[in-house]
Amino acid sequence: MEMTRIFDCNAENCVYNKDKKCHTLAINIGDDIPCCDTFMSGSNKAGFNDVSGGVGSCKVDSCSFNRSLECTAKGIHMSVVGNQVDCQTYRKK
Ligand code: SF4
Ligand code: SF4
Repeated sequence: MEMTRIFDCNAENCVYNKDKKCHTLAINIGDDIPCCDTFMSGSNKAGFNDVSGGVGSCKVDSCSFNRSLECTAKGIHMSVVGNQVDCQTYRKK
C-alpha cells in the first residue's frame, strides 16, 4: 500500500507549507471532521524542501476513501476553510 500524497495545500501560514505544497513527511487528519491535525501556524518554516507530504493517518471514518482509519485515495487536496484546513477530497460514505 502506498502513502496517499498531498497534491496541494493553500495554508501558506502553516510552518510546513512552501509554495502551496506540504513538506512534512506525514500529516494526520481528523478526528470527526476532515481537517489537518498537523497544521501549525508560524513564520519559521519547518519540514524539508525535498519532502513531499503524505497522509500518515486519517481518523475520519465517515469518508468513502477511509479504510481502517487510513486514507486509500491516490492523493488529496487541502484548503483553508475558516479557522481550519480541510481535506477537499472527503466524500461522505
Ligand atoms: S497539509 Fe497540513 S501540515 Fe501540510 S501544509 Fe497544509 S496545513 Fe500544513
Ligand atoms: S480523502 Fe477521506 S480518508 Fe483521505 S484524508 Fe481525506 S477525509 Fe481522510
